[in-house]
Amino acid sequence: MIHKYKQNGYNIVLDIHSGAVHVVDDVFYDLLDEVQPPFTADCPQTVLDKLESKYNKKDILDAYSEVLNLFEKGQLFSVDDYEKFSNMMVASPLKAMCLHIAHDCNLRCKYCFASTGDYAEGKRSIMSAETGKKAIDYLIKYSYGRHNLEVDFFGGEPLMNFDAVKEIVLYARSLEKEHNKNFRFTITTNGVLLDDAKMEFINREMSNIVLSIDGRKEVNDRLRVRVDGSGSYDSILPKFKKMVDMRGHDQYYVRGTFTKYNKDFAEDVLHLNSLGFDQISVEPVVSDPSVPYALTEEDLPEVFAEYDRLAQIMIERRKSGTGFNFFHFMIDLDQGPCAIKRLRGCGCGNEYCAITPDGDVYPCHQFVGHEDWKMGNVYDQSLDAKMKDRFASATVYGKEDCKNCWAKFYCSGGCNANSMQYCGDILKPFKLSCELEKKRIECAIMIKAALAE
Ligand code: SF4
Ligand code: SF4
Ligand code: SF4
Repeated sequence: MIHKYKQNGYNIVLDIHSGAVHVVDDVFYDLLDEVQPPFTADCPQTVLDKLESKYNKKDILDAYSEVLNLFEKGQLFSVDDYEKFSNMMVASPLKAMCLHIAHDCNLRCKYCFASTGDYAEGKRSIMSAETGKKAIDYLIKYSYGRHNLEVDFFGGEPLMNFDAVKEIVLYARSLEKEHNKNFRFTITTNGVLLDDAKMEFINREMSNIVLSIDGRKEVNDRLRVRVDGSGSYDSILPKFKKMVDMRGHDQYYVRGTFTKYNKDFAEDVLHLNSLGFDQISVEPVVSDPSVPYALTEEDLPEVFAEYDRLAQIMIERRKSGTGFNFFHFMIDLDQGPCAIKRLRGCGCGNEYCAITPDGDVYPCHQFVGHEDWKMGNVYDQSLDAKMKDRFASATVYGKEDCKNCWAKFYCSGGCNANSMQYCGDILKPFKLSCELEKKRIECAIMIKAALAE
């Protein structure tokens, strides 16, 4: 399988099953519309007839032998070596856990997938340190021999329950030696309650932090509002700057959401960069299409053009030595994800789970509140092995739409939670997200091509 596209003056050809990326000239690019295996040693006359009005014969013949050469080297139209492994995908030990330390929040962001903190459960609650400790025990138990473990403090807003965060971190650290584990903590915060003492603790204990801000003040304050409806930008920005300075601008990212209201979201990325942040993620909102801020199919041309614009700016900035990272354009073409990750993606419900304040276990944070997807509880240390197996086998080959999608090894089958929520089945990808994902992959690869020159 191949995928070819033109962007920013480059003709790019991806060979999906080998992972090879080729930047080619026009004649090679057009030739690929006319040929496919099995190849004859000489270029067929029908192909020459088709292309000779546009290209000279020698160039067509040269391009044909190059196609042949790459095919023989297994870098073009290569066979699918992965499908045969897809039936062997078995459940893995737990590796990462999202601790919902507070089902409560001091903001009322209008697009909040967590229903402004309470996950549509109708009650705001916080996790006790005791539940958090049981969750750590759970992770130790079900991670079996795995040494490196990840715990993300998540909400709602985790700083609303910071004493529990501290106690749980200290508890986990106290068990590391005995159980031969290494905990890596992260926290995702809206920043409202950040103060020096919290920053100091977080910087000492957390290997990564995610700071939520949408970009320009007017964009942020339209949807990321306080309980009284006022914007949050002015109060969080100085704290985020200070926090990132204190960390030496290392191991963090600022994370925003764009919606129908700011389809010029590259401006928000650039705004965040102008404030001194260089690790930036601004993601499309995923929501019910009927809400006013939702992105829908009709928005795609504008959003794609904005991704193109951002990609171009990033190339210019990188070339002039003022580059920054945009999370969704980061792609590793050299080593790529391992085979399992290529096939299975985020690991939710299998290597990853989320724990609610009551100690209930869900496949990931986005399944919380959907009672049918509860897969255990930390108090009785239960785990629904059947559900875990179901997620373990949810590979790109188990998803009809993904099997023949050129992006399958870059995207690994999309977000199971979005599929469940918007298509009613974890195996049915949400089309709008697919289109956005494919566009970002194309941009990321084009940027690599441009920077390799
Ligand atoms: S800060 Fe996060 S949890 Fe709180 S309302 Fe906003 S999006 Fe929801
Ligand atoms: S883009 Fe969509 S169809 Fe393609 S692999 Fe990803 S989830 Fe599957
Ligand atoms: S299912 Fe979606 S939201 Fe959940 S961990 Fe995977 S990618 Fe993230």
